[in-house]
Amino acid sequence: MSRVYNFSAGPSMLPEEVLKQAQEEMLECGDSGMSVMEMSHRSKAYDAIIKEAERLVRELMNVPDNYKVMFVQGGGSTQFAMVPMNLGVKCKAADYLITGQWAKKAAQEAEKYVKVNKIASSADKTFSYIPKPEADAFSSKDEVDYCYICYNNTIYGTRYTELPKTDAVLVADISSNAMSEVIDVSKFGILFAGAQKNLGPAGVVLVIAREDLIGEPQEGTPTMLTYKIHADNDSLYNTPPTYAIYIFKLVLEWIKSKGGIAEIQKINEAKAKILYDYLDQSKLFKGTVVPEDRSLMNVPFVTGDADLDAKFVKEATAAGLVNLKGHRTVGGMRASIYNAMPVEGVQALVDFMKKFEAENA
Ligand SMILES: *Cc1c(COP(=O)(O)O)cnc(C)c1O
Repeated sequence: MSRVYNFSAGPSMLPEEVLKQAQEEMLECGDSGMSVMEMSHRSKAYDAIIKEAERLVRELMNVPDNYKVMFVQGGGSTQFAMVPMNLGVKCKAADYLITGQWAKKAAQEAEKYVKVNKIASSADKTFSYIPKPEADAFSSKDEVDYCYICYNNTIYGTRYTELPKTDAVLVADISSNAMSEVIDVSKFGILFAGAQKNLGPAGVVLVIAREDLIGEPQEGTPTMLTYKIHADNDSLYNTPPTYAIYIFKLVLEWIKSKGGIAEIQKINEAKAKILYDYLDQSKLFKGTVVPEDRSLMNVPFVTGDADLDAKFVKEATAAGLVNLKGHRTVGGMRASIYNAMPVEGVQALVDFMKKFEAENA
């Protein structure tokens, strides 16, 4: 067996310790006599798992008591509808900041349920920066039910370092930066994250919602798309993705074992610095994002020559550095360096880039 360094944007690397523990517990978890996959979601053994998963979210992210923590299905994309259906009740309007594909898709979906104000967009420069409108560009909190951002833009490699100057309830898609950096939950109405980028396997979505915002949804909202239903039933209204939540819990235990999110953030900053420092002095490779808005998690870069990009990806793959091909809308390469990517993996990538640069000068 030889595990590669997997730079996939998602589903992505999981910590090896987590996979080994899952392997050990595959046939029998604890003294239950069965695999987690075989447990009733109403059993005592499973209840302990899902309760601990929620408790760890609250502990690690310092979630205030007036917030609900939910595990739902349908991927990050279902949240694009759930947010407007559940929050778009009073004004039936919302502000959106368009910073890439995921924000664009979220706005498109929201248009089915609320009036969408596109406050700003960075489409003019292939989403290579975060637009920073002044406070007066936003609707007031009496005009919109919420203001929506995609906190970390997985495809384009940008991230917010300062939150938008709005007084409306802030909603953020944190699918690709959840638990990679400290986030002050109290500044948000809703945070959501599909697990498969940074938190676990595909199939479960973490939602953190301020309790007072999730009363009655819009008329006609399906039961399964109603936050309050999931919140009131402790994510057990129907069968949740039991195994995905179990792995998610193991990942959170791993984060805790590393000292928590603040410590993980330090490691992530060090990892990103290794790569950006090299990109900034390279004569062959170039980062595509303005320095002040660079993501810690997703790092797109190009040589400027599509054939050379393809050669790089091919040779990197042969060297055990896989899934470096960039998104089709950006081209070039993208290295996703989520929590589970060790420093050694980023160093190996930079060493390989140096060698490639020397050979292709
Ligand atoms: C991957 C991703 C999504 C989509 O998630 P799915 O689970 O595939 O629906 C949404 N937002 C962001 C920021 C993502 O990175």
